[in-house]
Amino acid sequence: MDSYFFVNYPTMIKMNITGMTLEEMEQLMESIGQPKYRASQLFTWLYKKRVDSIDEITVFSKSLRQQITELVEIKQVEIADRQISKDNETIKFLFRLKDGHFIESVYMVDGKRRTVCLSSQVGCTLGCSFCATGAMGFQRNLTVGEIIDQLLTILKTLKVEVTNLVIMGMGEPFLNYEAVIRACDIISHCDGISIGKRKITISTAGIVPKIKQFADDGQGFKLAISLNAVDDQMRSQLMPINKKYPINELLNAAKYYASKSRHLITFEYLMIGGINDSIKDAIKLKKLLKGLRCKLNIIPYNATDGQFKIPSEEKIDAFIRELLESKIVISVRRSKGADIDAACGQLYHNYIK
Ligand code: SAH
Ligand code: SF4
Repeated sequence: MDSYFFVNYPTMIKMNITGMTLEEMEQLMESIGQPKYRASQLFTWLYKKRVDSIDEITVFSKSLRQQITELVEIKQVEIADRQISKDNETIKFLFRLKDGHFIESVYMVDGKRRTVCLSSQVGCTLGCSFCATGAMGFQRNLTVGEIIDQLLTILKTLKVEVTNLVIMGMGEPFLNYEAVIRACDIISHCDGISIGKRKITISTAGIVPKIKQFADDGQGFKLAISLNAVDDQMRSQLMPINKKYPINELLNAAKYYASKSRHLITFEYLMIGGINDSIKDAIKLKKLLKGLRCKLNIIPYNATDGQFKIPSEEKIDAFIRELLESKIVISVRRSKGADIDAACGQLYHNYIK
């Protein structure tokens, strides 16, 4: 997590202001003898008006602007590359971090819905066999500021507002739990970026204790679980984390969440040709999800390295038909942005190559 020095801060190290909560800004203002309301102004100008420099905050005197500029830094990420899909509806950003690492974020338009997908880690420890991020290994967790600045940079660059946010980019958000939750809290704050909590979804590969904590904490954010397979043998092959938290434990955690939250859980089902796309799989899935209030999002596999096959349209249709009678709300993520490496971690790989 970001660490700040409010007293005796070393002159050389600047604080990351992007990623600070209102309370932390109040402490910062207090440490330089300023009243509390200055922190509210700073919060609004940073997250709502989205200034690029403290000097643009015209409600501050010139000397206060100078004083704060010496203490803090705004930018946490910079754009290294950008790809736009042929239909102009998906834009993928590759960001360079201050230590030279790269992460990705995606902006997607679908009718009136404008969604940004953010990364939570550089790489991922979980090594799912279908995932380009998994193949990178793990470098480090992102800070609160780096998570938020992906979004701020996209909003500033495209001059848009977004309706939805998903933490579904590189990394496992529940293995960087505190920073992710803190970032989402700041993003949902009504004096800042102000994306409603119900419009923010966090996707996990199934870190069972964190799903329970998320339920207990009563976070208003939505939960998505990447299920991806219906039996432990296959799921462990695709997602090694299943050996630690097998399907029955995962579904028990999901039920626990469902008992505590008003929100429906979304199960993501990454469908891979010849691996998990049979009618048998659909029947088993129906059984597994029986009685659980949930939505199902089918994600056809996006080819990363040729190891797996994309499922055929016929298989996807038959799979859905089998599930329709179960009354589960089903959606299919049609290959949006397939022409621009839009699966998690792919742009990074092609850039590095
Ligand atoms: N670690 C979290 C969130 C990031 S991965 C999780 O696993 O849920 C986000 C989603 O991208 C997951 O649902 C994953 O199944 C999907 N994904 C990964 N590689 C993919 C690929 N090659 N094609 C399509 N979806 C992919
Ligand atoms: Fe990590 Fe999610 Fe990719 Fe699995 S799918 S390697 S958990 S980012």
